[in-house]
Amino acid sequence: MTVLANTAPPDTAADQPAFGNATGLVCRECGADYSLGAAYSCIECFGPLEVAYDLTGITREAITAGPQSLWRYAPLLPVAPYAGSEPNLHPGMTKLVRADNLADALGMTAPLWVKDDSGNPTHSFKDRVVAVAQSAARRLGLSTIACASTGNLANAVAAAAARAGMGSVVVIPANLEAGKVITTATYGGTLLAVRGNYDDVNRLCSELIGDPITQTWGFVNVNLRPYYAEGSKTLGYEVAEQLGWRTPGQVVIPVASGSLLTKVDKAWRELTSLGLIPEGDYRVFGAQADGCSPVARAFADGIDVIRPVKPDTIAKSLAIGNPADGPYALDAVRRTGGAVGSVSDPEIVSAIRLLARTEGIFAETAGGVTLATFQRLLESGQAARDSETVLLNTGDGLKTLDAVADVVGPTAVIDASVSQVHEALATP
Ligand SMILES: *Cc1c(COP(=O)(O)O)cnc(C)c1O
Ligand SMILES: [Zn+2]
Repeated sequence: MTVLANTAPPDTAADQPAFGNATGLVCRECGADYSLGAAYSCIECFGPLEVAYDLTGITREAITAGPQSLWRYAPLLPVAPYAGSEPNLHPGMTKLVRADNLADALGMTAPLWVKDDSGNPTHSFKDRVVAVAQSAARRLGLSTIACASTGNLANAVAAAAARAGMGSVVVIPANLEAGKVITTATYGGTLLAVRGNYDDVNRLCSELIGDPITQTWGFVNVNLRPYYAEGSKTLGYEVAEQLGWRTPGQVVIPVASGSLLTKVDKAWRELTSLGLIPEGDYRVFGAQADGCSPVARAFADGIDVIRPVKPDTIAKSLAIGNPADGPYALDAVRRTGGAVGSVSDPEIVSAIRLLARTEGIFAETAGGVTLATFQRLLESGQAARDSETVLLNTGDGLKTLDAVADVVGPTAVIDASVSQVHEALATP
């Protein structure tokens, strides 16, 4: 049994830099260099900042000897692991499930896998990005973690702060699913429900960053975004490691801000350039809901500019109308020969049910978007049935019960009598 300490041992390893192999921040657009800090946008050109590393001497053996969590990849992340245990939820190392029944249902001739990130501590992949941002916040001396959230991030921030004894301020659109609001409020901290959509929430948080009240706060997906975004790479590392240190032929990734998609691709390029996996061609596919599909739209129109939209879909975790990493997601998709598709709300619901009844995995709406988009891409011939594929299920259906509540229910409601069972089973 693994016992996780919930307080940080003193950071005694003075020879160990706080940020591990990370050397600074660099502008994605103009290449300007910055030191490691709570910064996210270039002073010269307003481009997004990314973490820069000096990565040498990283081996498969060192990784596999590490903990059964995303911290096994700490040498590839912008935080040096404490000598003991990080005071966080230790997400990651979720199951990669071989999905033969689903593959049959889709007419696949190559293996199909579901990377099931609903197995994380707060049941979505957001625990990964928060773990990394939270560690960065601690090293930067910030005592509160904050976020603008479409729901899952709210859960992850509130829970992680509780675990580490930090403060939390979570800002959400007021119309989120009850399953996400109630859980977040139960973890504690401050929860602000804004009358407006996610893009309003995000703008509010950007404005708050200059405000004196937020001096000791780190907004994980705003001013700590470079660190946060790196956490998504661990999903890519795990898929490669769990496949036996290689990439699949195709991967399908739900797109909100587009960050996860770009980071899975980055993870595989890093592992390749470090010689940890063989060079292999893979195609990256993006998945959106019709009711919020600015990236799919730009892909279909063959343009680089993302036109913002007003979201209207049951896939609320993906409802970002003005996706910050949309252009970079388009780059990754086009460079690898993939595509971005989108699907209707009824298709999302059907796909949630298909995944549940073929594989026993109950996905949230984002998982439905991913599978439904893959079905569409197979039908249109943009994705191939004879190429090994990984679908990312990024969240748990128990948080979005309303999506299916109206279309499923008991086979029959009966009295406790054997004859009524017979009757119920005889009814077609
Ligand atoms: C946030 C989220 C995503 C996508 O995240 P981005 O990195 O912003 O594209 C996907 N699935 C779920 C369930 C999420 O909560
Ligand atoms: Zn710049």
